[in-house]
Amino acid sequence: MGMPEEAAVARIGEELALLPADLSEEPGSVALVGAGPGDPGLLTLHAARALESADVILHDALVPDGILGLARREARLLSVGKRAGRASVDQDLTNRLMETFARRGLRVVRLKGGDPFVFGRGGEEAAWLRERGIAVRVIPGITAAMGVAAELGLPLTHRGAARSLRLVTASCRTRAETEAMDWRSMADPGTTLAIYMGRDRIACVAEALAAAGLSPATPAVAVENGTQPGSRHRFAELRRLASTVRELDASAPVLVVIGDAVALAPGWRGRDGLLEPAVPAARERLCAAGAC
Ligand code: SAH
Repeated sequence: MGMPEEAAVARIGEELALLPADLSEEPGSVALVGAGPGDPGLLTLHAARALESADVILHDALVPDGILGLARREARLLSVGKRAGRASVDQDLTNRLMETFARRGLRVVRLKGGDPFVFGRGGEEAAWLRERGIAVRVIPGITAAMGVAAELGLPLTHRGAARSLRLVTASCRTRAETEAMDWRSMADPGTTLAIYMGRDRIACVAEALAAAGLSPATPAVAVENGTQPGSRHRFAELRRLASTVRELDASAPVLVVIGDAVALAPGWRGRDGLLEPAVPAARERLCAAGAC
């Protein structure tokens, strides 16, 4: 739902009134900056420098204080962007705030969780600004899948067990969306699936993958708040993934990783004596296909 036009204009006016009066005549610029998954140590040097020199930072709601704390004391920090189930600043208003600040000669940072170009609308924002002649720089960030994998010691690709990695969003919002998805191409234990925004739709995702032929014994893990102090995770086979995510009862963002590679994480072994050892199973499959 878009914000009413007058409300958007009023908000931009309020923000402008708070800016210093002696602004430069030089055109400003916008940097789309990846904040990584939460641990400030995972910022790039480019990101840290952009934050340290920004005049205005438009940040996602979930960026932790340890990262926002890098901003100069004079910098203006505005929380924008959406968060599931909560009121948020409209995308159009975010775009217009970036444009307005940049036209005033300010150094604008649009700070996003993870990487700006992975489920972050970075492409849309960059295109919108470029169409209006505003210089845009993109500074990548560590995407959630990589932060979470490092935290768990889970190699996302691994010789003999995982040949590819897919970053996907949990396409199960409507029946039409679920049916439009090519689940067969994802139902491969040798492809590590990193499922973003899936906390509330994981039952549908797991069911669709199993129906498309993915073994119910495929290893999986759900991670809440990866790389942050409150990080929690649970391992499960695909058949128990949905109930495991329910038990996790997460309130923060959750990333789900599915595939044989998950069994390589040290936490998987010994969790449950009944589990099928997934990596030997993957080897057998590859050998049967003549790949070893
Ligand atoms: N641009 C971001 C993704 C934004 S979509 C990136 O590259 O990581 C938001 C989704 O990302 C969440 O629903 C969750 O699935 C995932 N996510 C982001 N940060 C996370 C974290 N610290 N731990 C677990 N999942 C996370």
